[in-house]
Amino acid sequence: GPAPESATEAFDWIARHDGKFGHFINGAFIPAGQGFETRAPATGQVLAQVTQGSAADIEMAVSAARKAQSKWAALPGHRRAQILYALARLVQKHARLLAVLETLDCGKPIRESRDIDLPLVARHFYYHAGLAQLLEAEQPQMGPMGVCAAVIPWNFPLLMLAWKVAPALAAGNTVVLKPAEWTPLTALLFAEISREAGLPKGVLNIVTGDGETGAALVAHPGVDKVAFTGSTGVGRKIRAATAGSGKGLTLELGGKSPYIVFDDADLDSAVEGLVDAIWFNGGQVCCAGSRLLVQEGVAERFHARLKARMDGLRIGDPLDKCIDVGAIIDPEHLARITAMVDACDGQIHRAATDLPAGCYYPPTLITGLSAASPLMQEEVFGPVLVSMTFRTPAEAVELANNTRYGLAASVWTENVNLALDMAPKIRAGVVWINATNLFDAAAGFGGVRESGFGREGGWEGLMAWLRPKVQGKALKPVLP
Ligand code: NAD
Repeated sequence: GPAPESATEAFDWIARHDGKFGHFINGAFIPAGQGFETRAPATGQVLAQVTQGSAADIEMAVSAARKAQSKWAALPGHRRAQILYALARLVQKHARLLAVLETLDCGKPIRESRDIDLPLVARHFYYHAGLAQLLEAEQPQMGPMGVCAAVIPWNFPLLMLAWKVAPALAAGNTVVLKPAEWTPLTALLFAEISREAGLPKGVLNIVTGDGETGAALVAHPGVDKVAFTGSTGVGRKIRAATAGSGKGLTLELGGKSPYIVFDDADLDSAVEGLVDAIWFNGGQVCCAGSRLLVQEGVAERFHARLKARMDGLRIGDPLDKCIDVGAIIDPEHLARITAMVDACDGQIHRAATDLPAGCYYPPTLITGLSAASPLMQEEVFGPVLVSMTFRTPAEAVELANNTRYGLAASVWTENVNLALDMAPKIRAGVVWINATNLFDAAAGFGGVRESGFGREGGWEGLMAWLRPKVQGKALKPVLP
């Protein structure tokens, strides 16, 4: 097959920063301080040193964002749009470097970062550039929130940055973003790109660090809104930390999304869809279709086809362009996945593919579990699919709704009436019919129940970055 993607350009970029990064505050990198290493999950190789953000760093970043905010918001929407368009074009111009850096730092296959993450990132900036121009005419009664804090996870580092930064800036907010400690590099490269795009200083600030840095950012009194994507546990802490503060809040949290296959489904398409649903990014996806619910009459045939397909998946070096499943984010997470699977009492089928040495977990299918077992209820955040059978549509709905989550669902049937009957009964932010993992900047994405609240994407997503305001001079009451 083709040679692995070259990482020379990415290592050159890191070397230009002497392998050490400070925070990006007020339009410039400040000198690197005490911090930690970010590593390539696939090899364990140290990529760079990044700085652990302190309370003083957060203070500096929030005050830079505050100073920049009124000027940024006062620009006409079409001026903000110009800069968002420039960001979109520059993301495309640097797409190869960004994709390689993402794959190095996060371990996802280069095919995904290059063909999915990066195009979605560019699309997000293009789309929100459009909305920025329409805002004054379409939403004259709405104004920006002010200074926004964005805290994001490691599974889609640059895409989650785009989901926050593009709408925030379109709406006239300024941002302090804290990337996940495992994957800070593409955010830092993006900071550099924002300068190339002419983004005024202070409009986007990036402070690296771990959960402590995130907690300090979220709690800072100068922050007007918090947008968080990550685990349900941390989301709960952030909700508590912001309660009563008047800060705006959106939470995009975990899931245990059902993938429902009826007897009459197009089985080949449903198998292909399932490969995408659970093995995209090695299952380290919030909306991963991690619970297969398959109708009894077709279960045996479906499992057989699925196992054959699993056995052909290629696992290994994420920079290899032929690879289907890359690395697990870190050895600790790998140990967590291993322990969860080893503790279960189901029948385990692991993909027959050779597993390279390093931080990898094989695509895995588990059958014979009870609906209440931990693997049926808890998010694994790895390439592990659990499967159950059902008899009737009503039973499928009941099983689908039988977790504390509600992010996504997928329904496979050739009977359109059945699909349309199922969709509203499933408690989930999105229900895909004969499809999975369809995302677009124009469509609001988000969860219900313990998967969070608020939507990202589309007008509904933009509204979460705005608040009502009444413009104009005080009106003298006109008495009759
Ligand atoms: P995580 O919750 O451990 O960390 C997310 C971010 O929060 C990181 O930047 C981390 O440093 C920070 N953080 C940790 N503790 C904090 C605290 N007390 N206060 C403020 N910030 C804190 O999640 P993760 O392991 O990086 O990501 C995996 C999780 O993210 C999964 O549960 C997944 O389902 C979820 N996720 C959800 C979506 C969605 O759109 N719903 C998208 C991607 C990932």
